[in-house]
Amino acid sequence: MAESEVDLESEQYEKHREAGAILAQVREETAERVEVGASHLEVAEWAEDRIRELGGQPAFPVNISVDEEAAHATPSIDDETTFGEEMINLDIGVHVDGWLADTAVTVDLSGNPELAEASEQALEAALDIIEPGIETSEIGAEIEDVIDGYGYNPVVNLTGHGLGHWEQHTSPNIPNRAVSQGTTLEVGDVVAIEPFATDGGGKVTEGASEEIFSLEREGTIRNRQARQALEQITDEFRTLPFATRWLETDRPEMALRRLKRNDIVHSYPVLKEDDGSLVSQKEHTLIITDDGCEVTTER
Ligand code: MN
Ligand code: MN
Repeated sequence: MAESEVDLESEQYEKHREAGAILAQVREETAERVEVGASHLEVAEWAEDRIRELGGQPAFPVNISVDEEAAHATPSIDDETTFGEEMINLDIGVHVDGWLADTAVTVDLSGNPELAEASEQALEAALDIIEPGIETSEIGAEIEDVIDGYGYNPVVNLTGHGLGHWEQHTSPNIPNRAVSQGTTLEVGDVVAIEPFATDGGGKVTEGASEEIFSLEREGTIRNRQARQALEQITDEFRTLPFATRWLETDRPEMALRRLKRNDIVHSYPVLKEDDGSLVSQKEHTLIITDDGCEVTTER
């Protein structure tokens, strides 16, 4: 195979690696803090502060998903929720100058270690087969096969994805099941692969709760709090997702309602499986290399 033209030592890849190294450390340190009785809000804020202390910025609010929740749950401003004997997914992101890393791990406090293992092993199997030219459909088939082997279902309407500059989700989608065709991964692509396994039906739907938002379009708004929030969003978060609790204006919930009504921001409702089911998740970010891949979010 010819040597690729992509310079994997360039500054952008170095920043991806820096983000990944910070994130790998924070993921492990945060997972240790997830225990019965601990506060969701304290764990999320601890992780976000730790990211800044290590020289990165949170790329999105720390997601803490419980049991049937799969994604987009993060503590509210005065959240008093504590961890119980539940299945907890921690999904954390870091950026350095807009270059991202994205990772997730399940901390099982529910006594279902095999469900957590199913998504871990599916990710390991996917990483083993990755090489330049692989079709994303082959990755999806491998993930589905492993999860199916454990007797669980992959969540088919959540996928891995590319990571762009200041963009958390870009093409290609990397499916969690066999699909009829895919695009190929090439040297230099930076992607997140994230299998979800569940004892539910394998398809998430939107719940009522909304704590995560991102900028939809530029705009102007008269209301003072909404204007203050919009300034912070465009300066600090740009197009990356943020939490209500990150806004410094007074009355942040009202400000967000106004921005949403004017289609300036959009929300990410919590995504969940059937009530009473459990979801596990494992995610790494990787750079496709000449002979396979380099995982940026592994210690
Ligand atoms: Mn993630
Ligand atoms: Mn992701």
